[in-house]
Amino acid sequence: MTEAVPHLGLISAMHEEQAGLIAMMRNHETVSRGMRDYVSGTLWGIRCTCVLSRLGKAAAATTAAMLIERFNVTHVVFTGVAGAVDRSVSVGDVVVADALVQHDMDVTPLFPRFEVPLLGMARFPADALLAGHLSEAVRAYLDHDLQHAISAPERSAFSIRQPRLHRGLIASGDQFIGSQATLDGLKAELPDLLAVEMEGAAVAQVCHEFGVPVGVVRTISDDANEHAPVDFMKFIERVASQYTFHIVRRLCTRV
Ligand code: SAH
Repeated sequence: MTEAVPHLGLISAMHEEQAGLIAMMRNHETVSRGMRDYVSGTLWGIRCTCVLSRLGKAAAATTAAMLIERFNVTHVVFTGVAGAVDRSVSVGDVVVADALVQHDMDVTPLFPRFEVPLLGMARFPADALLAGHLSEAVRAYLDHDLQHAISAPERSAFSIRQPRLHRGLIASGDQFIGSQATLDGLKAELPDLLAVEMEGAAVAQVCHEFGVPVGVVRTISDDANEHAPVDFMKFIERVASQYTFHIVRRLCTRV
């Protein structure tokens, strides 16, 4: 983080993903607004405000706007899970966004497909510096923490073997993608797409509009097709929560 006194806004969609971080927070206080709890304090010496957005673009966008306007965060990071789109991406891998697109934005023929009308943009960039720091944090986590954080039986239960870091395009929409046909349609329209989720691009749009650097990091939980794991909640509790905790720790302590 670049500013003299950074204040990191950390958003996750689900409770299980953030519980470990909140338990770790020092001197924290909670402000409740608009059906969300904003928990501010310090994490490994960095001022942070943690909040659950719940699922979907509207929920994520309001949460990001509140973090920026009411809590004056200097950086926003979304941590969560996502479905794999590209064949090179597997369950247990991590995708750090370079850019984000809203895959259900379609105002054709008035505007090009995916473009957010009156903003003239389809792809919202993540902050390059923050994406770089997040990538370093992910690499350190995968190389040094993963094998201690998640037991071998658990890794094999979720078929996590040699997880990798990917950088690139993430798409968001108000839809859980769990069909090969939908996935193929998305791949055809966005050939460089790595992963799909439901919040990141909405947060990236808000951060773009307010001029606040944003980063999105997603643990791959499923293949976004009919084989999406039955045990989604177990994956979040046992696997994704560990990824989030250690990646944020590595980010705050700068590896
Ligand atoms: N089955 C879960 C719902 C998960 S919704 C339940 O019963 O509670 C999916 C959440 O994970 C969203 O926050 C989204 O951002 C992310 N996600 C993971 N895999 C996804 C996929 N294949 N398509 C869309 N979002 C996905």
